[in-house]
Amino acid sequence: VDETTKATATAVAGTDGAGHLFTARDVTAVMPKRGGGETTVFRGLEFHVDGGEVVDLTGPSGSGKSTLLTAFARLNVHTTGSFAIDGKDSESFTPQRWRLAVAYLPQTSTLIGETVADAIRLPWTFKVRQGARAREAKDMLSDAHIRVTLDRMGCQDIDLDRAPRDLSGGQAARVSLARTLLTKPRVLLADEVDAGLDEENADRVADLLKLAARQGAAVVRIRHRAPDGRATRMMVLKDGGLREVPLPTAAQVAAAQRADAVDASADGA
Ligand code: ADP
Ligand code: MG
Repeated sequence: VDETTKATATAVAGTDGAGHLFTARDVTAVMPKRGGGETTVFRGLEFHVDGGEVVDLTGPSGSGKSTLLTAFARLNVHTTGSFAIDGKDSESFTPQRWRLAVAYLPQTSTLIGETVADAIRLPWTFKVRQGARAREAKDMLSDAHIRVTLDRMGCQDIDLDRAPRDLSGGQAARVSLARTLLTKPRVLLADEVDAGLDEENADRVADLLKLAARQGAAVVRIRHRAPDGRATRMMVLKDGGLREVPLPTAAQVAAAQRADAVDASADGA
C-alpha cells in the first residue's frame, strides 16, 4: 500500500465512519409508552466496529443496549438509522441477507428441530435457498460438516443426534452460538448470551466469540459479568449517550475475576 492510499483510507475512516466493516449513523429509538405517548431512548447515536474487534457494550438496565443491537440487525421497528457493511448501505440488502451478515443473538434462543443437527441446519434451509451462498448452504446440510465444525469450536461433548431439549444450559448456549457462527456473519451481536451460565460455560462461550473475531468477524457483546480481558474496546450507553471508556487493565481484570470467583463460592455455600 503506497502512502497516498494509506492517507486517503485514514482520512475516509476519520471523517465519516466509512472504511469500517460496520457503521451505524444517526441511530434513534423512540418507544411507545404504555397508556399513550412515546419516549426517546436515544437519538443520533454513531457507532462503528471492525473485523477482529470484540466491543463490550455496558450500561444500566433499560438504557437501550438491546434496542441498539436490534437496531443494527434491523429487527426493531421502533428504531431508525443508516447502517452499512464495508460502506455498502443496508438498503441495498434484503432484510434476510442483512440479518445473515449482521447477526443478533438473544440471551436465549430456541433450538427448533428433532435433533441438534436439524436445529443447526435450520437457518440454512430457510434463509439461504438460492443465490451466491447456495453451495455453502449445501455443505451445511451435511452432518459430517456440522460435526467437524462443532468439534473445532470445542463442542465435542455435544451429540448431534440428540434432541435439543436434552442439552444442558451451557450446551444449548454453545449450540445457539455455533448455529449462528456457521452462517458466517460479518458482525455478531451477542446480547447477554452468557447470562445464567456457570463460569466454565461462560468462558467457553466467550472463547467462541473471541474465535469468531479472530476469524475476522466484528463482535459486540452485552454482558453483566466482570471484564474478562477479551474485549478490545469498551463502550457505555447511558442517559441516551454512547461513549467509549478505557479498557480495564490486566490487573483490574484479574481483581474482578477474583471477586467474581469469591461471589460464586459464596453463592454455592
Ligand atoms: P437494556 O437492554 O439496556 O436493558 P432495552 O433496550 O431493553 O434496555 O430497553 C430500553 C428502553 O426501551 C427501556 O425503557 C424499555 O422499557 C424500552 N423498550 C424496549 N422495548 C420496548 C418495546 N417493544 N416497547 C416499548 N418500550 C420498549
Ligand atoms: Mg437488554
